Parts: sequence; C-alpha cells; structure tokens
Amino acid sequence: MSNPLRIYVPVKRVIDYAVKVRVNPAKTDVDRSVKHSMNPFDEIAIEEAVRMKEKDKKIEVVAISCGTTKSQETLRTALAMGADRAVHVEVKDDSTLQPLAVAKLLQAYTATQENKPDLFILGKQAIDDDASQTGQMLAGLLNWPQTTFASKVELEGQTLKVTREIDGGLETVQAKLPAVITTDLRLNEPRYASLPNIMKAKKKPLVKLTPEDLGIDISPRILTLKVEEPAKRVGGRKVDSVDDLIDKLKNEAKTLSHTSFDTGYSADCTEFCPLVDSTDYLAYETKNDAQVRKGKLYLFTVDPKNKNGLQQQQVIEGPAILDMKWSHALVENRKVLGVVDSIGGLQLHHLTDAGELESLAHCQVSEPDVLCLSLDWASRVNKDDHRIAISHSNGELSIVVPSESEWKVADQWHAHDLEAWITAFNYWDTRTLYSGADDGLFKGWDSRSQTPQFTNKRHSMGVTTMQSSPFQEHTLVTGSYDENIYFWDTRSMRMPLKTVQTPGGGIWRLKWHPTEANLLLSASMHAGAFVINTNTHEIVNSFLDHTSMVYGADWSYVHKDWVASCSFYDHTMHLWDASTTA
Ligand code: AMP
Repeated sequence: MSNPLRIYVPVKRVIDYAVKVRVNPAKTDVDRSVKHSMNPFDEIAIEEAVRMKEKDKKIEVVAISCGTTKSQETLRTALAMGADRAVHVEVKDDSTLQPLAVAKLLQAYTATQENKPDLFILGKQAIDDDASQTGQMLAGLLNWPQTTFASKVELEGQTLKVTREIDGGLETVQAKLPAVITTDLRLNEPRYASLPNIMKAKKKPLVKLTPEDLGIDISPRILTLKVEEPAKRVGGRKVDSVDDLIDKLKNEAKTLSHTSFDTGYSADCTEFCPLVDSTDYLAYETKNDAQVRKGKLYLFTVDPKNKNGLQQQQVIEGPAILDMKWSHALVENRKVLGVVDSIGGLQLHHLTDAGELESLAHCQVSEPDVLCLSLDWASRVNKDDHRIAISHSNGELSIVVPSESEWKVADQWHAHDLEAWITAFNYWDTRTLYSGADDGLFKGWDSRSQTPQFTNKRHSMGVTTMQSSPFQEHTLVTGSYDENIYFWDTRSMRMPLKTVQTPGGGIWRLKWHPTEANLLLSASMHAGAFVINTNTHEIVNSFLDHTSMVYGADWSYVHKDWVASCSFYDHTMHLWDASTTA
C-alpha cells in the first residue's frame, strides 16, 4: 500500500448539463461546439475525495482526465476544488474514447509503484454517453472490490463503508482498500471553486502524456451507425366515425368520463377542498377571452356514486381567475380558498357551514394591468405559516401575509424578465420559495430576504408548474412547455433525479396524490391528463376525453382516486376515476 494514501479521481469533460443537446447535420454525432464542463458526478467524486483529505491531511488527491487538450480546463477546475495534482492523457478526438479504453488508460497509468493508487472515486456515469461502465471495468481489470452508486462513504483506516441507493431502500456494504467507488447524486453537494483557489490551481502540477506512452490501444470497439433526434411526440388524432371514436375511447383512452359540466367560459383550474370529511367540495374556475377578462368561480358538491353527482352549489362572477388553491390548514378556524385574478387581486373566500363560499378578504397585490398568474400557501406541512406566494405576468413575485383583519403584501420583488407562470413553497422549509417563468428559468429564493439561492436552466422552454411533495421532504417536481416533468432532490438542484414525459403536450399543472406518495397527476395541455407512478416513472392512467387543452386537474380528498380535470376552449370539466387502469 502506498504511503500517503492516494486517491485518483477520473474526471471527464462533457457537454454542460444545461445545454440542450442537438444532433449534428451529418447525423454522425451530437453537435459538440457548445459549452462544456466537468461531468456533474465527477464534481461529486472530487468533492468526496477533498473532504477525505480535509479529515486526513496525509491523503493525496490526483485528478486524471483522458481527452483532447481542452480536458486541461476540467483538470484545472478539479485542482481549484482542492485536488493536489493532475494528470492529462491527451487524445486527438475524445468522441471515440470508449469506457474500456479509459479504464485501460487509468489502469496503465497507475500500474507503476510510483503512481500506485489506494482508491479510485469515479462518477457513476458520464452524462454524455450514459455508459456507466468505466468504474466497473476498471475494478474488473484491477481485480479490486467495487462499491458503485455510493450515497454515503465512510473511510476508517483501510476499510470503506459505503451506503448505496438501491430499488426499495439503502444497502450498506464494506470493502478493504484498494477499491473503486462510483458516486451517486446524493453523496454530497460539490463546492464552487473560489477565485483565490482558481488562481492557486494554475500553479499546481499537471503532467501530460499520451496513450502511446502508456502502450494502450484506444481504438473504439463499438461503431456508431447513426445518431438521431428522438421521434417527435404525436399530438391529437382525427377519428373517422363515432364508432371509431367510441372504440378508441374504450380501448386506448381506457378511462372514461363519469360526469361532465359545460361552463360556457373557457376553463382554467379546478381544486378539491382538502378540509372536508364527507362532502366533497370542488371549486372550479373559468374565464373568457374578451377584452375585459371576465370569470366565474363555481362551487360544486361531488358524489361519484351518483351519475348526476356533480351538483353546482354556487357561482360567483368577477374578473377572470388564473389560479386558485385551498389552504390545507384552517385560517382562524375557517376553510379558506385563495383565488388570484386578471386585475392584480387576491381574493380569499371561506366555505361556510352551510356549504357556501363567502368573501373573507381582498388584497390588491399588483397594478390592475398586471395579471396574478399563480399562488401557493405555505401551510401544507407547516400548518402555522399562513403566508401566500403569488407570481405575476411582469415577472415579479409577492408574499402576502395575514395581519389583523387584513391581508397585506409583505414583500414584492423582480424575479424573472418574462411571465412568472408559477411559484411554489418548499412545504418542508417554507423559507425556500421556487419560481418558474417563460424565460425557461426555474429559481430558488430565500422567501424572507428575497435573495436568490439558485437558477436552474434545465428546462428548455417556459417553466409552468411545480409542487413540493407533501410526503417526501426533499422531493420537488417541475413541469414545462418543453413536455418534461423533472423530479428533484431539493438538496442538490443541479440535475434532476428523474425525467418523465407525457405524450405530446406541454405540462400546465402537477399535483401530488392526497395520500399516496408515489402518484402524481399531470394536466398536460394538448395531450390530456395523466397519472404517473413516481416509483416506476410510468404513466399508469391516461384520461383522453378532453377535446381541448387541459389546464386544470385535481384529486378528490374524500373519494379516493377520483379526479376532476378541465379543458379550455371546449369549456368542459370531467370527473373520472383514476384507479380504473392503475
Ligand atoms: P461512463 O462509464 O462513460 O458513464 O463514465 C463513468 C465515469 O468514468 C465518469 O463519471 C468519470 O469518472 C470516468 N470517466 C469516463 N470517461 C472519462 C475520461 N475520458 N476521462 C476521465 N474519466 C472518465
């Protein structure tokens, strides 16, 4: 065993995670003339090695990269993060460098007594080839133990204890050094290199050599035949006859509407009251498209056992409404519905014991020519925090708080340059507020000081929806016009944990199931409404009866798995059973 303990961290220069990757015109590869940076899993690997070194100063951390001259930029980043020295194995064209060749280069470089390693920490996968092979192949070539997909690493003397995230739980394994580790997303939050460390990194040693120096043949073993963009998603279809339509609804759509309701005006959102025991109350909002936008707020009772089980209780006329949400906590002993409108207002209504909505308060949040586009209550998990966050068409965000008998704007700030379509609290830590906008950006804020926490560019089009999971503390979901639903761990917002697409439509609203932590409802505009199992990331139910864009959908809190969804130009709300094909 070498002395001091030496850790090698192989780092790869890849297309930056925020770049939308395109196929080159010749369809032989992707377009590589875009921003590159260190593979995110390798940043985590460097961070872990540097933390080990911070605990035991005798540890030496060596970053090693195989690639073109540009890989030296990546190595300098690793040095600025805290690696002691760097090794560059230079190749002419890194697009043909395959995992087996990299594993052989790593083995060859570290084969001498002088360069002998005790531990390799690699990323679990490179985000360009998604091969997830190099660490495993290297361990195989060296005949060393491998602990892959590590979410926690403890090193005591010559013994490693590694926790791995596996389907259905955590696995803890132990191995003796020398060994190979590959890192998973949740292992740590990599540091940013400070300016003084970037300057210092310029002076740290970086040795250069070639595959020929190491006697390794790096010629590819796998031939790429063709590279293609994913097939365009299919939109709506025309059917030839009513019989054909009925056949498709039965055999393809599977879930049929139980009851529907026509409101005359275009339908925008629908929300079940969460604070009821036996009678289901559904608030449902519509707006028309005339110059002066007018809206109607409907209140229904819902009983799916009865074919006529959608009973209109009330309709309130006013300005067009763009979003509404019930508070999940009683507000001064009242069940309160928050509604935001097209003339900058927040309306608060409470549901009386007689089952009627009664106006409780009104707050003019912005100028009347600015639309309020979305709202969220902070009180879903922390029942004592009654703040409301609102996003606006001018890109601003507001926080409204109850104060004595009034509701007041406590803070308002410029968050985005285009329409802020959505805002959402982190229900577990309501200091954190998220926002998404037409600029394609998704941001995190400290809701008390309005300071930005992060800006994420992962979505390639406007970010329209997001919701913090009421069951899993660190889970957040976001959706966009780009048709992607991303699942995030809020402790590490660089890369989503998972992606799901619903077929052919941008996403407008996402709602977690009231009791099942793994079910998510998506109002997917042109495509319909869908239920996603977030364990398997599969669509388990598709509701395709809507003939126009689906903007609103919600789960009933009384009748398990019943959903109401609404669509715009056909001004229709449907009630359906999401358990029928689940
Ligand atoms: P892959 O097997 O390609 O998914 O990559 C897994 C890990 O192997 C990466 O996260 C890096 O730690 C390492 N790796 C892959 N390619 C290279 C390379 N060209 N240079 C250095 N390390 C690499």
